[in-house]
Amino acid sequence: MSAASSNPPPAFHPETELVHGGTMRSQFGETSEALFLTQGFVYDSAEQCEARFKGEDPGYLYSRFSNPTVAMFEKRMCLLEGAEAARATASGMAAVTASLVSQLKAGDHVVAAKALFGSCRYVVEDLLPRFGVPSTLVDGADLDQWRKAMKPNTKAVFLESPTNPTLDVYDIGEISKIAHSVGATVIVDNVFATPLFQSPLKLGADVVVYSATKHIDGQGRVLGGIILSSEKFIQENVHQFLRQTGPSMSPFNAWVLLKGLETLHIRVARQTESAAKVADVLARHSNITRLIYPGRADHPHAAIIKKQMSGGSNIIAFDVAGGKPAAFKFLNALRLAKISNNLGDAKSIVTHPATTTHQRLKPEDRAELGITDGTVRLSVGLEYADDIAGDLVSALDKI
Ligand SMILES: *Cc1c(COP(=O)(O)O)cnc(C)c1O
Repeated sequence: MSAASSNPPPAFHPETELVHGGTMRSQFGETSEALFLTQGFVYDSAEQCEARFKGEDPGYLYSRFSNPTVAMFEKRMCLLEGAEAARATASGMAAVTASLVSQLKAGDHVVAAKALFGSCRYVVEDLLPRFGVPSTLVDGADLDQWRKAMKPNTKAVFLESPTNPTLDVYDIGEISKIAHSVGATVIVDNVFATPLFQSPLKLGADVVVYSATKHIDGQGRVLGGIILSSEKFIQENVHQFLRQTGPSMSPFNAWVLLKGLETLHIRVARQTESAAKVADVLARHSNITRLIYPGRADHPHAAIIKKQMSGGSNIIAFDVAGGKPAAFKFLNALRLAKISNNLGDAKSIVTHPATTTHQRLKPEDRAELGITDGTVRLSVGLEYADDIAGDLVSALDKI
């Protein structure tokens, strides 16, 4: 019983499932989810142990691949996402890597959108080809490029939407149709949207991955990741891969993330409300030359956003006039927002992608993705919205 098996449709609203979903109480009837900080499990008899290993006796074997606290986290995420099954991993990158590698073999081909989180791009562009899985990178907004990139051996399609850091939003339904025409599995990294504002499985994707490090923890404490999909995909691909290779989520981290899920909805709702206010204030500032926020009507992909997202989430991208010197002056003048490379945190965080998350890319590749030397990514936190906006404006005034 290492994770949720087929779930009935959720009986409660997501807000309620986030608090109660997946809870399994021990014989002590604890209120809060128990932390099963254990590597292994003991059996009543050698016969029971044999039956457990054969899969005939339900129960736990070894925390590399099954642990009750981790299982509660997986089950709660399944209820939130409307997925049949899930497996948690040590980090978001472990989830991304496992979702791809577990189903691929030499001779297969992968298509992905160019605009990817730096490490995701490494996996697709550098790592997979070393094992005989070439990849084609496309402009995710151009459906013709997706169509042209598909080959009979295209096994997986990978995309993030909204993308990091320029917040492009791609048509998950249309891309899934194109991918399915050659039998490819569609994997969506849904970190920026969060499970609250976009449901890739309902839009046609086959697999959703998260870095739980971001909004799901939301308080800067632990790393984690999760893969959600059909029971069949998990059983045929992900389960064996994780079980035998071991990028497991720690029970302690699962426990922290369960606590994070209880408040996910109110945190992200508040951050999104604040992000909308902050985006409007920034958009009017004369030292900002471009602002992208999925919650604004002037977003370049507003029509797709309307179709597939129910909220703008908490990340804003903008260009500061004056390139890198101005961007650095701005970052250094902030008193409240922290210079860091994380997002989804309770604390507002600013990132300069060109010198951090996207430093590895060639300047022309950054330019192609719309990342300039003046681009700043802002993750709006839980501080009072006017305090966040005031901090940003006073730092912009100093450029
Ligand atoms: C952070 C992030 C990841 C990687 O997650 P980790 O938990 O840091 O390994 C993957 N994809 C996106 C979009 C991210 O923001």
